[in-house]
Amino acid sequence: MVDEVNPFESLQEQIDDAAEYLDADEGMIDRLKQPERVLETTLSVEMDDGSIETFRAYRSEFNGDRGPYKGGIRYHPGVNRAEVKALSGWMVYKCAAVDIPYGGGKGGIEIDPSEYSESELERITRTFATELRPLIGEDKDIPAPDVNTGQREMDWIKDTYETLEDTTEPGVVTGKSLDNGGSKGRVEATGRSVSITAREAFEYLDRDISEATVAVQGYGNAGSIGARLIEDQGADVVAVSDSSGAVYDPDGLDARAVKEHKSETGSVVGYEGASRQLTNEELLTLDVDILVPAALENAIDADLAEDVSADVIIEAANGPLTPDADDVLADRDVYVVPDILANAGGVTVSYFEWVQNRQRFGWTEQRVNEELERLVTDAFDAMTTAYEERGTPNFRTAMYTVSIQRVLDAAEKSGLFP
Ligand code: NAD
Repeated sequence: MVDEVNPFESLQEQIDDAAEYLDADEGMIDRLKQPERVLETTLSVEMDDGSIETFRAYRSEFNGDRGPYKGGIRYHPGVNRAEVKALSGWMVYKCAAVDIPYGGGKGGIEIDPSEYSESELERITRTFATELRPLIGEDKDIPAPDVNTGQREMDWIKDTYETLEDTTEPGVVTGKSLDNGGSKGRVEATGRSVSITAREAFEYLDRDISEATVAVQGYGNAGSIGARLIEDQGADVVAVSDSSGAVYDPDGLDARAVKEHKSETGSVVGYEGASRQLTNEELLTLDVDILVPAALENAIDADLAEDVSADVIIEAANGPLTPDADDVLADRDVYVVPDILANAGGVTVSYFEWVQNRQRFGWTEQRVNEELERLVTDAFDAMTTAYEERGTPNFRTAMYTVSIQRVLDAAEKSGLFP
């Protein structure tokens, strides 16, 4: 992990790189590089033993030109203002990439949730939801899960908001439990777009994914489901890791069995079907066809990028490569499917959940998956067309040119107020 790279500066650099290929007003591009507003607040919460603890919490609303701010809420000790701003900006360009009518937002609490009881986490989440209440709403700003949050936290936020507002408004958050207005297919959605984009990348490169070997860094929601769905296409998942370490088998692990082992023991380490353990760095430089970074930002810097042996990287995580790493990989002809497309399945099915909530009519899982397939493959095609027509150095810059242009078009047609 490369801590010194500021993810917000990475985002700004990515926008500048793409702007070079667009005929856009400089002031308008500057506008797209800053959040519209950031809430930074302190949550004071009573612990189970009666003591009071405080937590820093943030919500960044980056840009709303295309619709309500949309993006997850992260619980992690590393959460900070720069990270939340970056993640909220990536959401703007992700939503534009798959062409759904949202802007971008992101929030988080600086906390290690494993140190707190469920009742403490509920009070922490409800306190945060109370702070968020003036900002959020199904037409204003719509949170969702991110690292270390899930259906349970979204259900608490929805309940807190609805109680305070004296209404029912399930579309105020997405990623809820099915019993509480969640969508079929939401849990698998991020892994599904990872697997769809891996398939599309191999088709684009005229290669057979069923012969590919795969390494996955981070075996949580995005990584484990992405691994399973790529394995379902016939590829061999040979290495996976989590924060405790990595396991490897050159003949292929069983993605589902490794997940079961992690659910039972808390880690992929110790999985019996592996031939040996690896360090996290060894996993990232393993000689495989596909590398899926699915943990956190800045996993690969320029130095490590020199040693990456994969041909294709599918960014399940947000911001796993530093901009310098991107340059090295482009020079080395490693194809990178950028986060704003590869992991866009999560927000896309969040959008479907919101549509279902507003319609008060649930879709079948088949419909969810078919619509997801369409939006992700359309975005992939838009990206490769821009890559060829604009001659960008990599897929990321190509995808950004498409997304930024869509945001600019919306902004231009609405005009600036006042
Ligand atoms: P998660 O908490 O379910 O899983 C994260 C995994 O990464 C865990 O297995 C953890 O042990 C592992 N990890 C952490 N640090 C690591 C390290 N240094 N080396 C190896 N493994 C490490 O989180 P998630 O929801 O799967 O999110 C992962 C990434 O995907 C994040 O960047 C997130 O923003 C992004 N993402 C998630 C979704 C979603 O719907 N879940 C959607 C879009 C993007």
